[in-house]
Amino acid sequence: MAKSPEVKLAVFGRAGVGKSALVVRFLTRRFIWEYDPTLESTYRHQANIDDEAVTMEILDTAGQDIQQKEGHMRWGDGFIIVYDITDRGSFEEVAPLRNLLEEVKKPKNVPLVLVGNKSDLDHVRQVGTEEGERLAAEMACAFYECSACADEGGAVSEAFHELCREVRRR
Ligand code: GDP
Ligand code: MG
Repeated sequence: MAKSPEVKLAVFGRAGVGKSALVVRFLTRRFIWEYDPTLESTYRHQANIDDEAVTMEILDTAGQDIQQKEGHMRWGDGFIIVYDITDRGSFEEVAPLRNLLEEVKKPKNVPLVLVGNKSDLDHVRQVGTEEGERLAAEMACAFYECSACADEGGAVSEAFHELCREVRRR
């Protein structure tokens, strides 16, 4: 019997955007308010995507230094870049991260999904939905606005699943 394919996913983005909260939400369907910001972990998760069993290894990054980042980028098959819709600075960090990814993975095409997190905080939003959409279009990747704490409609799992599909298309 064929072994189910394994997909390595890494989650990047400025500290505090909600990477850990999103990963935990995806894995447990729960929200954890406080999560050690320095903790970096890998999780294994089995899912059924389009009637096919997939084993994911998900790396929730927290590293700041460039060597560590590049190491994670070499490790991964697919990437989620997260920004916080209430933090414009985190949005401005997306393009540099993506450029580094392209650089590290060259000449390969990089499976990528862009996520604007904390959509429940619309009243203090600093980044418009159209801005996220535009950036995703420039990077030729899928885009999701979602909330790790109020995941209505399952946008969080949709983002992870779409990334798996994207990896497997390549
Ligand atoms: P990380 O540094 O990117 O891993 O961010 P964390 O997952 O540790 O989250 C940083 C802070 O943002 C924590 O206080 C979380 O409770 C909060 N947070 C994460 N996701 C959301 C969200 O979708 N909505 C709101 N309101 N807060 C969030
Ligand atoms: Mg974290």
